[in-house]
This record gives sequence, structure tokens and C-alpha cells, in this order.
Amino acid sequence: MDIEFENIPLDFKDIPIEKKDNIKKYNLPRKVVFCKKCVIPNQRPRITFDKDGVCTACRFAEYKAKGIDWEKREIELIKLLDKHRSKDGSYDVIVPCSGGKDSSRVAYELKNNYGMHPLTVTWAPHMHTDVGWKNFQNFIHSGFNNVLGTPNGLVHRIMTRLSFEILGDPFQPFIYGAKSFPITIATRFKIPLIMYGEDGEVEYGGDKKIVDRSGHNITNDMEKHYFSGLGPEFWMKYGIKEEDILPYKIPPINEIKRAGVECRFWGYYKKWTPQENYYFSSEKTRFTANPYGRSEGTYSKYASLDDQTDGFHFYLSYIKFGIGRATADAAHEIRDGHITREEGVRLVRKFDGEFPKKYFKTFLKYIGITEEHFWKVVESFREGSPHLWEKRNGEWILKHQVS
Ligand SMILES: [Zn+2]
Repeated sequence: MDIEFENIPLDFKDIPIEKKDNIKKYNLPRKVVFCKKCVIPNQRPRITFDKDGVCTACRFAEYKAKGIDWEKREIELIKLLDKHRSKDGSYDVIVPCSGGKDSSRVAYELKNNYGMHPLTVTWAPHMHTDVGWKNFQNFIHSGFNNVLGTPNGLVHRIMTRLSFEILGDPFQPFIYGAKSFPITIATRFKIPLIMYGEDGEVEYGGDKKIVDRSGHNITNDMEKHYFSGLGPEFWMKYGIKEEDILPYKIPPINEIKRAGVECRFWGYYKKWTPQENYYFSSEKTRFTANPYGRSEGTYSKYASLDDQTDGFHFYLSYIKFGIGRATADAAHEIRDGHITREEGVRLVRKFDGEFPKKYFKTFLKYIGITEEHFWKVVESFREGSPHLWEKRNGEWILKHQVS
């Protein structure tokens, strides 16, 4: 679907790339090391490796497979749901949901296997892909009530442009909304339980002290983990108005507390395996994989499909950290035992860093920049990681490749 975008009015403080704030200092280790079990390098922010050279995410996968008493966790889940289940059929759980394979499964199970009455809550992608919109509609029509939150399109485009230029990640405004909107709905409608999918901090490698947390603390976690230390207010210095950042913010903490909102992770109670979620959702909510085959930059067909800007998030991660979409996909499929490390290495070498050209023109139009400007931004981030890149025969290549 083609959208006719207005030109972005430049009354927000447009910044020349040479002068952009240098806020994102990742302090990446200068020596690149890859995990011995998966394919993730030590460049992923917050990941750590143990003395055997194995990453926290791989250790967590082992813990999931052998260290967790899932029957006990099931009892905990039932207890939690019993506490919240409504008797009159009114909403008793919020499920943040994109219509993707993972959230669809959580909502389906809560409703059909645990007798809950979920309200699914969706924060709109920047621009739906056709398959993303179809999956979202199929999901709703398989029996769910849904609230779709769509922010002011023009503000969202400007914020997306700014975060692309300054953070090297066009996703940041989406992440604000995806995290905040369910909390806003839970607070306003007094539906205190929010059930998220997996805990990204433990699944993909973060703080190893939190492997046994069943949920997260709204007050402390939001900024640190999801907002890269930069809340929505940050953008006001670039001319975004206070009233315009409201949809991106969570309600005042005292209101959230008064409503008794608690955020839980389904992945704490149930073993989280994306591939199984795919099979499950294909059957139950008519989820379909990418009709064009694999997504650009990876070999996978069923993850992160719904937004036309997805590819640029992964591409910039490749530039900044040397971690492209295939690395991310292969790493967790190795951990889940679906592919071997050797297969993973081969897939990463083949697909990682492939440019997302399918939606390139739309993306440029969406954030209102030229192709030249796009590459200027990309190069500014490549310069920020000189230990990763070198030019050979006029072409940029990663100095260190997984092997
Ligand atoms: Zn690993």
C-alpha cells in the first residue's frame, strides 16, 4: 500500500550530520570475540561472556533446557491467572500484540487454554507491510478484541528521522510506544495484568542476575533497557513539543501503582521457542510467513515481518555492532537446537548485512531524506566503530567475521 506522505516541515531543529550529538557511546570492546556456542560477538550492548567464552544468552538457553522446573512455573502461572481472572467476562489481562507469531500465541493460550479474557493492545508499526497487516487482521478475526494505538504520523516521522540520525536506529519511537501504550491502557482501563512475551534481557543476553525474574519493574527498567537511557523527553531539545511526546510516555508512576499494574513475561512461565510459536500461530491464528521468502539480511521467513522499516533497524545494527539480522536469527536458532553452529556461521556469512532495498525508497520518503543523506548517516555510524570496519578494494568489509 502506497501512502502519500506530506513533506516533513523543517521547523523541528534539523541538524547537520557533522554536528549531531555524540550521545551514543557504546564503549564496545575493541577486541572482537564471538561466542563459542552461538554466533553472537561481544559487541552486543550488555552481553557478557564467561571464562569458557560462552555468552549469557547461551547460558540462559541451557538453563531453560535443564535448570528450570517448568511444572513449578506452570503452577505459578495458574496462581497468577487465578488472582486476576474476571468472573463476569470483563478484561483481565492486557496482551501487547503485533499480530506476529509470538504475541499471537500468548494471547491465544491465555484465552483458550487458561480461561482469561484478554484485551490485545497493538502499537502501530511505522508502515505496515502487506503480510504484517494481513497477519494482524487474521489474528483479530481468530477471536480477539484489540485496541490499535497510532501516533500522530507527522510527529512519528520526525522522531523516526531524528532517532535514525542520532541513535542510528529508526526504531526508537516505535519502542517507546510499544512499551508505553500497553501500560497506559492497563492503567486507564484498570486492567492490572500485562503479559509480555519473552524477557529480551535474558533471552538475548543481558544482565545474568535477572534470569529468574517473572516480570519487570516499570519504574526502573523502562529507561535503562528499552529506551537506551533516553526517554521520550529527550527529543524535545530537537523541537518536538511536550504535547507531542505524550503518546510515547507511560502514565505517572503513582497512577500506575494505584491501578496495581504488574508486567509479567510469558517466557518466565512457559519455555519460549520462537519456531514453535510460528507453528502454533500458523495453525491457530492463521499467521503466515513472508510470501516473498526470506527477509532481506537473513534466511528466516517468519520473524519481524510487519514493519517496512524493520530492515533498517537491523542494517544499522550491522553497521554499529557488526550484528546483522542473520546473526540475531542464527544465534537463537542455535541456542534452541534448530541449527548447528556450523550452519549458523554459514548463514551469517551469506546473509548478514545484506542491504534492505525492498523498502528503501519508501523509507527515504517516510523520513524525508535523500539517498545521499541516508549514506552520510550510515557512514557517521561506521566511523563510530573503526575497530569493526576496513576498506578493501574500495569496499567496506567487517574486519572480523564469525568462523
Ligand atoms: Zn552464545
